[in-house]
Amino acid sequence: MIQRTDARWGSVISNLNGSQVELWLTKLMEGDGSPQEAIFGLSEELSHQLSWNRITAYVLPHLAAFVPNLSKKDQVYLIAQMGAAIAAEAECPLPLGTEAYQEFYEGLSGLQKEVKTMIADPQVQLLLAEDTELGVMFTLGALAVIGDRNHAYGFWLLSGSVWEEGMAACACGWDEESIPFLEQPDCIEEIQIDPWDGTSFEHEAVWLNGVLELVGDNPVSPILPLVYGTGVCPECGETEPYWDWLYRFHEGEAPSL
Ligand SMILES: [Zn+2]
Repeated sequence: MIQRTDARWGSVISNLNGSQVELWLTKLMEGDGSPQEAIFGLSEELSHQLSWNRITAYVLPHLAAFVPNLSKKDQVYLIAQMGAAIAAEAECPLPLGTEAYQEFYEGLSGLQKEVKTMIADPQVQLLLAEDTELGVMFTLGALAVIGDRNHAYGFWLLSGSVWEEGMAACACGWDEESIPFLEQPDCIEEIQIDPWDGTSFEHEAVWLNGVLELVGDNPVSPILPLVYGTGVCPECGETEPYWDWLYRFHEGEAPSL
């Protein structure tokens, strides 16, 4: 059984009690079996088809506190695996002041510290460079933890086309389900992304691009100037952030996801 002594723990336990999530979390924290197997089991339970699972809120403080006990390799794996479950909160934001909200943000704040430390760690940087897929998933997980969860969620929506095509819908009714990102589409004005100083997390596109440079050749870097760019509607001429186009398209598609 997981041990925790603070006042909220009783309620946390009742949220996890008897679930597969409790089983995997206990295995991970008690060192029962392989950490990566437990992390995988946990993330499978929590991030089903990118939908938000409120138990994630109760799990995060435990993961944040437990991260330093894991090897660097397992730390990277944990952030890579948990990113989608955390990003999904963007679809269903937790109401302010609720217990779940308190747990989620406590966990997130602990994880933010851990993830920033990991990114600066030469051993972690080496791991990111060794495995492109893991490196990309870790970077998107880091975005879900440190950055805008809507954007992290957007990258998971775009992963369906391996980040080669984007969806868009303008308020005027124009929409497009496959904008070829790799052919410099006319309807999106790119942004210029400045080099990253390696320490600041102030400008999301900048640090995200910087961390992806640590990964090396990858499918997400080339589309960053577009997805952080501005859509110009070919029908009505209105301009808005590409992200807004993506979310509007996704809302229209929601029943099928
Ligand atoms: Zn339009």
